[in-house]
Amino acid sequence: MADNSGMSTLCPSPEQVQIRWNNRFHKLGSAFFSRVMPQGMPDPYWVAKSTGAAALLGLSQSDLAQTPILLALAGNELLPHAQPVASVYSGHQFGQWAGQLGDGRAILVGETQGFEIQLKGCGLTPYSRMGDGRAVLRSSIREFLASEAMAALGIPTTRALSVVGSDLPVRRETMETAAVVARLSPSFIRFGHFEHFASQDQFDELRQLADFVIAHHYPQCAEAHDDQSNVYSRLLACVVERTAQLMAHWQALGFCHGVMNTDNMSILGLTLDYGPFQFMDAFDPQHICNHSDHQGRYAFLRQPDVANWNLFCLGQSLMPLIEDTELALSALQRFKPVFEAQYLALMRAKLGLHKQSTDPSAPTDEKDPVIKLTQNILKLLAQQKVDYTIFWRQLSQAARGESWDRVRDLFVDRAGFDEWLAAYRRHVDAQASATAQHTMLSVNPKFVLRNHLAQQAIAAAQDKDYALLGSLQSVLEHPFDEHPEHEEWAGFPPDWAASISVSCSS
Ligand code: AMP
Ligand code: MG
Repeated sequence: MADNSGMSTLCPSPEQVQIRWNNRFHKLGSAFFSRVMPQGMPDPYWVAKSTGAAALLGLSQSDLAQTPILLALAGNELLPHAQPVASVYSGHQFGQWAGQLGDGRAILVGETQGFEIQLKGCGLTPYSRMGDGRAVLRSSIREFLASEAMAALGIPTTRALSVVGSDLPVRRETMETAAVVARLSPSFIRFGHFEHFASQDQFDELRQLADFVIAHHYPQCAEAHDDQSNVYSRLLACVVERTAQLMAHWQALGFCHGVMNTDNMSILGLTLDYGPFQFMDAFDPQHICNHSDHQGRYAFLRQPDVANWNLFCLGQSLMPLIEDTELALSALQRFKPVFEAQYLALMRAKLGLHKQSTDPSAPTDEKDPVIKLTQNILKLLAQQKVDYTIFWRQLSQAARGESWDRVRDLFVDRAGFDEWLAAYRRHVDAQASATAQHTMLSVNPKFVLRNHLAQQAIAAAQDKDYALLGSLQSVLEHPFDEHPEHEEWAGFPPDWAASISVSCSS
């Protein structure tokens, strides 16, 4: 019998994993979710596990080897005292109000150690609409690898504990097989949760949700401030700041999310809902990674503006609580300065330049050479379609004392690059610091989850060979290390990578 207090201890048998639930979201009450039962899959088997994610829950590698855990993470059996629910949210999709959505295939089984455990792909919920409640192996592996890769890169993200597969057929463009990803986050609350209650004029629930998020995730908003702000405008400002920081990380890394609908925006500023995402190969600011995004709404360079637009949707939803348009606007105006400062800091680190001129009379660009250096190198990378990750890694190696030839060879227009390099080297030399340049190798990854790498691991896994997936995972868990045995994964993508088509279908 489930313990509705939300706090319980599990000890079904001495050898079985014990989980102490602390289900805070459940205490919001039935307006926020529906109770559901995960639908299991026939003959589930392990596809992937993350010991790093498991450690967040206090689970060991041997805990993850247990059959009851496999069955629980497949959705076949409930962990003792688990209280599975699907939450309701709404949202704007591709700029249009989409009405009620909700967890159509993700089921929250409970919260432990400050992390909610969600099983994605374990069957129908009241919010499945036309969907089948399932996820395919392909998209589950992509979400798993990307979540763990992003965490290792230091990018705010939800985590992935496991992928469990089954031979259960699932129809997408072709017939595929089913899988369930177990993912973790301190909260899976989205902008769309707020939009839902605001759109329904359910202002009590809206306030309850905001108070919940403040109490558990942004307690600093509840503290007294001597300005005019109120607790809800401060919540908006906090979410604006986190989101702006996340966008700076994505842009500096060359990460394209692909479906930045408001229902895919985490209230905690985490990367959430990995679908047709892409870590860019050749740098292209106009790059569209989602083949269903015909207008390019979510093209790489538009991501910060889209996030800002999404934050206005959140702000609109919070208006019944904030009550004062000026306060809401001033919270929203935090986006640009926070994004710019964070992006500049990240690009400064990528360039290995750690000092900023303090001459207040110098024009902005001269005050901070990072601005011009960044603008100019991005222009060159785009014009000459240079591989984004390889460029930064080779620049890091050259700045450390190796020859500049390899990075120079990435450019067809050598003269253009030489001009940039001369300016860059003036600053590098002026700021010569072994540590600054050494840290370039710890901020410019050698390995990212390129589409073709994911694709190869998926193809092998579809044949039930998980060795490649496991090796790729372990390399991506240490993306700044050299891994000489996997040099080819740090190289240019093969020609066929350009033909990989990733859509919303998952
Ligand atoms: P997404 O595009 O994955 O962010 O999903 C948008 C909405 O569609 C969410 O409400 C999802 O839960 C729902 N959804 C996506 N795929 C499925 C599916 N196969 N079955 C049920 N609901 C789904
Ligand atoms: Mg989604």
